[in-house]
Amino acid sequence: MGLLGVIAVPEDGEVELDLLIESVVEGLLVSGTAFAKVEGECSRCLEPLTDEVEVRITELYAWPDSTTDATTDEDEVSRIVNDLIDLEPVVRDAIVLALPQAPLCEPDCKGLCSECGGRWAELGPDHGHETIDPRWAALQERFSDDNSEEK
Ligand SMILES: [Zn+2]
Ligand SMILES: [Zn+2]
Repeated sequence: MGLLGVIAVPEDGEVELDLLIESVVEGLLVSGTAFAKVEGECSRCLEPLTDEVEVRITELYAWPDSTTDATTDEDEVSRIVNDLIDLEPVVRDAIVLALPQAPLCEPDCKGLCSECGGRWAELGPDHGHETIDPRWAALQERFSDDNSEEK
């Protein structure tokens, strides 16, 4: 679950739930927190990263034939089906909503060098590329040819 290729709860990841289920007139009210470790990659430098999300969950599961059942659509309010409640879609949606859209390995990640694609964190502050105007590049090549002929 999660944003594919950006950040998600890993396949074998666990979601910890700390929920309270209360019986109310219309059904069961589930409230509490869900906690999950998520894995993804930095949106600037593409380094793998892990993060944690914790979300609050409050969800009513309506009894079949209750007023809520009769007056709402299934995608508005969850239903109790065969005396069971399905937590998965509710928890999944809450976690997906809580995931950062553009996760960063560090808050001030400097990303990648646009010339060579290296990570600024590893390249260091002195890193740079001499950008030579193509016309000058041609001249420079001629000079280096002359030098080699002299030898
Ligand atoms: Zn980064
Ligand atoms: Zn570079």
